[in-house]
This record gives sequence, structure tokens and C-alpha cells, in this order.
Amino acid sequence: MTTDLEGHLDRYAALLVRVGVNLQPGQRLLVSTDVTCAPLARLVTRHAYDAGAPLVNVVFTDAPSTRVRLAHAAPESLDHFPEWRAALWRETAERGDAFLHVTSEDPALLDGIDPARVDRERLARQQALRPFSELLRRNAFAWCRAAAPSTAWAARVFPHLRADEAVARLWSDVLEACRADVSDPVAAWRAHLAELEGRADELGARRYGALHFRGPGTDLTVGLADTHVWVGGAARTPGGVRIVPNLPAEEVFTAPHRARVEGVVRATRPLSLSGVLVEGIELRFEAGRIVEARATRGEEVLLRALDSDDGARYLGEVALVPVTSAVARTGTLFLDSVYDENAACHLAFGASYRENFAGGEALSDEEVASLGGNDSVTHVDFMIGGEHVDVDGVREGGARDPLMRGGVWAF
Ligand code: ZN
Ligand code: ZN
Repeated sequence: MTTDLEGHLDRYAALLVRVGVNLQPGQRLLVSTDVTCAPLARLVTRHAYDAGAPLVNVVFTDAPSTRVRLAHAAPESLDHFPEWRAALWRETAERGDAFLHVTSEDPALLDGIDPARVDRERLARQQALRPFSELLRRNAFAWCRAAAPSTAWAARVFPHLRADEAVARLWSDVLEACRADVSDPVAAWRAHLAELEGRADELGARRYGALHFRGPGTDLTVGLADTHVWVGGAARTPGGVRIVPNLPAEEVFTAPHRARVEGVVRATRPLSLSGVLVEGIELRFEAGRIVEARATRGEEVLLRALDSDDGARYLGEVALVPVTSAVARTGTLFLDSVYDENAACHLAFGASYRENFAGGEALSDEEVASLGGNDSVTHVDFMIGGEHVDVDGVREGGARDPLMRGGVWAF
């Protein structure tokens, strides 16, 4: 690791603490990451104590051990999830501590493992963490999900490079995508978030009834939820603290209406799902429901995700991202959904976010559902934007505004 990269790494750690979870004095921090990220976790810990944290708790996982379990454990044992972990996650959310998840996962970690086993473990985990996830979707506490390159991840992204070159290249792309490769990333993010929030405010003021996506294999009308709110980049906790839940963040997004999506859509980028690469996704919607789903690779994993529960076959998010975003500019396919979704317009099937409804945090589940919101244990983003995809905003009366042309903003 060069001294230069060490300096960048330190600025990245500061970014996660100061912008990502925006840690406040007196606030605890829980860091969840893989053992390969220990050097970054130490820098994060130092910045967190500098910011006034009374306690930083780092919980490590080990990706190869996860694979061993999924490959060898008795099938019924995959229903088990450690109680202490579910309790710690829940307590963190309920206390209003900050939560930082730094992933470094090999996108093909679970390749070759029976998808039914992968699915069984995922459902047990999602069920055990459901109280935490519900508070997370309401931004009831400060949270941030970020990534740090591992040798295994870098080798998948740059298979033609030597291991050390691949890691260095992926770090360089990660720092560029996260706008951390500048002398003052915190100031750069202030300006970037202002731009995203400006676009979100303008889209919100126009009160579109629907968006229309048009491109190769795509002719899709996405009705928007009643009282939908556009959000760009940052979110706010109940205490009014501005956090950036996903790094990088290049999107402005809102909630589709669960029952008002019609047409066909073709994904424009591969998707890494449950450790399996899914390519060539094509979906057909009727009255909001995904009634046909195909993929040229990984189709079984896609279908299993769609069958997680009833809500998994309905959309929970629609997001606009220009092809000129900081992530897209790297030209790299990261094989990580947060990175790749921030390179292109995308949809997500599964749960919608409370922040995408006016006064959403205070609404009951029934109220959100009546506005067109969607509930599910899952939320999977897949990319549908690109330089050949145009997007229109459709006003209630039917008038159309160009929102994106050739993959870039048209307003
Ligand atoms: Zn998104
Ligand atoms: Zn999403």
C-alpha cells in the first residue's frame, strides 16, 4: 500500500464517520465488517473517538467461513441466526446509536452453492433482523452502508490484473466513485448533496403521476405513489441529523405506486444477488405485479428472490442517475449493487422506503399501503438506465416533460 493510498484511506474513514453516519458527540458507533477490512475499521474507530463517541463496537465476519457454513451445514441449521447479533443490532437501532456496515464481499462468494440453501439462510437472517431493518427503512437512527475492496472482490472486478494491482485499482475506483480522492471530501460532499437535493426538490414540485422509461427491450410506465417524496443523496434522522445512508450516493429516488406499473423492462447491467451474478434480466409488469421474469444467467436466484413473499413481486423504488455520475465515470462494473445502481437509473423490487412518503416516519403500515407503498422482507435494486434509455415525467393530465435523454439530465 502506497503512502498516497494510506492518506486516501484515512480521508475515506473520515468520510464514513463525518458524512456517512455523521457521528455526533456522545453517540455510540457499531461497525459491522469483514476481517479483511480491519485496517479501515481501525481508522474509522479513531475518527469516531475523535468525533466524541463514548464507545465504538466493531463486529467482524469472515466471508470464507460464511461460504463453509452454506456449503456444509445441515440444511435445517440454516434457519438459525445468532440471537446476540440480532439483539445487538436491534439495541443499536432502538438506542439511536450509529451503525456503519462496510462490505468487501466477493460478488461470487456463493457461486455453485445450492440456491435453496442460500435462500434459506437469507430468509432466516432477514427475519431475525426485521425489527432492525424496519427502523433502518425509517432512518430512525444514523446508518451508512459503504464498501472497502478485498482481494477476492478486486479479483472478480479485474480478473486480468495481478492481485495487488487489482486491489490498488479497485481502491482507486472506490475512492473516485465516493468523491474521496480530493483534498477535502467533506466539503466536496456538501456541494454534491446540495445539487442532488435541488434536483429532488424540483422533481417533487412537479408532482408527476408517472415516469416513462423507453429503450432497447424497455417500454415501462412506473406510476408514482400518492404523496410521494423525491430524496437525493442524504437522509435525516428523527433528530434532524443529515446522514448519507449509502456511499456512493448519486441517485434521486422515490416510491412507485405498488399497483400502477405496466410494461416491460430490460436490465442494462448485471446484478450481484446472494453472491451470484444475475445477467440479462427481463421483467413484465401487469397492474404493478411482476408476472414474467427471465434472466440469461442466475435466473433461479432471481426467481427465488421474487418469491421471498408477496411484496417481492412489486416495486419499492424508482431512481434516476445520469451516466455521467462519479460512479459511472470510473467505467468499472463493480459487481456491487450500491455501486452499480449509482451508475444508472434503477428500480428495486420489494419494500419501499418511509422517507419517500410525506410524513412517512409517522404513518402506519396500512396508511403507507393505501398510498401505494410496498412491504416485503426484501429490497433488490437492478439497473435499467443507460445512454440508450430516455425518461419522461408524465403529469396527472398526461403532459410529458423530458427528464433524461441519452442517459443524462434533460432538465
Ligand atoms: Zn436506489
Ligand atoms: Zn434501493
